[in-house]
Amino acid sequence: MKPDWEGPLGEAYARAMTYLEELPVRRVGPRDTAVELRGKLGGPLPQGPGDPVQVIAQLADGVEDGLLPSGSGRFFGFVFGGATPTALAADWLATAWDQNAGLYAAAPAAAVVEEITAGWLVELFGLPEQTSVGFVTGAQMANFTALAAARHAVLAKAGWDVEADGLNGAPPIRVLVGAERHDTVDRALRFLGLGTRCIVPIAVDGQGRMRPDALARELNQGLTIVCAQAGNVNTGAIDPLDEICELAGDAWVHVDGAFGLWSAVGTPIKGLEKADSWATDAHKWLQVPYDSGLVFTAHPEAHRAAMGIRASYLIHDENQRDPLDYNPEFSRRARGFAVYAAIRALGRSGIVELVERCCAMARRFAGQLQPYVLNEVNLNQVLVRFGDDDLTRRVVKAVQQEGTAWMSGTTWQGRAAMRISVSNWTTSEADVDRSVEVILRCVEIERARSTQG
Ligand SMILES: *Cc1c(COP(=O)(O)O)cnc(C)c1O
Repeated sequence: MKPDWEGPLGEAYARAMTYLEELPVRRVGPRDTAVELRGKLGGPLPQGPGDPVQVIAQLADGVEDGLLPSGSGRFFGFVFGGATPTALAADWLATAWDQNAGLYAAAPAAAVVEEITAGWLVELFGLPEQTSVGFVTGAQMANFTALAAARHAVLAKAGWDVEADGLNGAPPIRVLVGAERHDTVDRALRFLGLGTRCIVPIAVDGQGRMRPDALARELNQGLTIVCAQAGNVNTGAIDPLDEICELAGDAWVHVDGAFGLWSAVGTPIKGLEKADSWATDAHKWLQVPYDSGLVFTAHPEAHRAAMGIRASYLIHDENQRDPLDYNPEFSRRARGFAVYAAIRALGRSGIVELVERCCAMARRFAGQLQPYVLNEVNLNQVLVRFGDDDLTRRVVKAVQQEGTAWMSGTTWQGRAAMRISVSNWTTSEADVDRSVEVILRCVEIERARSTQG
């Protein structure tokens, strides 16, 4: 039977084009409630086949009002990136080609593209030449993979083979992490069996940067991993990596740079190259569609010791790079194609420009919201607070409901704040100005509501 590719793919293409072209004018927020979505999408288990085009059309109709248009230039929630047309197109092809990118033998082009892209990334970030790279789902798994390599290296140095013997009876490891770390670090340590109690929180400054003096007091007390950060998820602050790496000496230093690492392409981060591993995302600032994260280590043998696999039925070409030696997945999609295309489409100067434009837009927000700004706006993150916790939370909610722009709330060092993250390649000055207008209007309305009691 000749498959009908044209029908469902044509429908999907038409739907995608409508969605993407309407992004700039779409309401930035979902319309449907969960109950409404269940009503549209639910129903009994299909007992027989459905018409392919109908299935796609019904899916698209059903989800339409439940989509959060996070690719909009006025979406400032969390730290979500958008997707550029080139990266999205390459990602579509990755799906169409449906390569299993685990092995060179199973997907030669995917393996070679990842190898080439890995080299470009190492050069872009200015990392050591021998740096090994893994293509993972996000910074969560990048942190996990890097810390698995760290766990291997630190224990191997103490004469313990963690891959063979596990952690029962192993010498304890202390993980020194800034108090304002991202929660995925804790989660990675849970996955690794190190547990969150191995964490020694290190005091931070008002921007969330790890304080070297506080770090120094906790070093040299046994097996140690230091987890630093380039780009605090609230303030965008970058830890003093040069000092941290100097102080850390023999300890393994990991850098969570989920979005902040991209700022190093244009403005080198001092000491970045002295760390032992790094995590970042392609689906944040590089504008590659989900999901796409990257892990780097300066110690390929530790990286492979932690992740590598040799199975009897696999074909390992010892002269080629098998991607599955560098990430925790076995079978997986060819994530490298989209990253490769994104880098080719932007080039170094395009990445620098993209990062600088987002930072400039963040400064524009800060300028117009000045009396409310809580943080030093050195990157793309702006924290604002309107008087007290209650008013701040109400303003966040009111802005989300208004639909022009979308930003999330957070708690920064004990106080409620609105967090504005400029991480989309299409955000313009007009987008910022319109969003500020809405924010200020919501502040007025909510304030009036407070005084009315
Ligand atoms: C977003 C983020 C993460 C988690 O990244 P995912 O891609 O969602 O897994 C980790 N650390 C920091 C600093 C982040 O901003």
